Amino acid sequence: MSRADEGTEQAPLAVYPGSFDPITNGHVDIIRRALRVFPRVTVAVAFNPNKDSAMFTPEERIAMILESIDDERVEADAFSGLLVDYADRIGARVLIRGLRAVQDFEYEFQMTMMNRHLKPNIETVFLMAGEQHFYTSSRLVKEVALFGGDVSKFLPKCVLERFASRLRAEVP
Ligand code: ADP
Repeated sequence: MSRADEGTEQAPLAVYPGSFDPITNGHVDIIRRALRVFPRVTVAVAFNPNKDSAMFTPEERIAMILESIDDERVEADAFSGLLVDYADRIGARVLIRGLRAVQDFEYEFQMTMMNRHLKPNIETVFLMAGEQHFYTSSRLVKEVALFGGDVSKFLPKCVLERFASRLRAEVP
């Protein structure tokens, strides 16, 4: 028997969690890279049902993720509560996280250690986006877009369209 015949477990489902408020081209880059390693990726929108200060509802964020990534290997979902409990519920053993230049390391390190403490059987995998995305964050892009700045380089087209209609609704 060759090694290839052993352990014919199903390839692991990977979860890419985040706030995705909204999805940026940096997130899209990470999802595409994850698909080179994992056969399926669930993009999971984290929300707090009691106090969510997000700009877009979880449903809007899911819709923008699905419109930005037209690939049947990618699903989008929303969850509240502990990420590791959600991962357990859907049978995922891998968490995907993205790293940007410098800023993410400390926080991601702490989160990974805490998640490992809570569920030692779930592994976190880090990916780095292309360098053109090193400084893209949802927060910054959102702020600039709301003041009418040009953020077309940083956001998928469907997200830009949503910003435009939101601004039209807010400015009489
Ligand atoms: P943001 O920090 O932009 O609000 P999220 O909280 O939704 O984004 O982030 C989800 C994950 O994606 C985190 O691991 C975050 O570090 C990663 N990420 C976000 N933007 C980028 C980017 N431009 N390049 C690489 N990783 C990113």
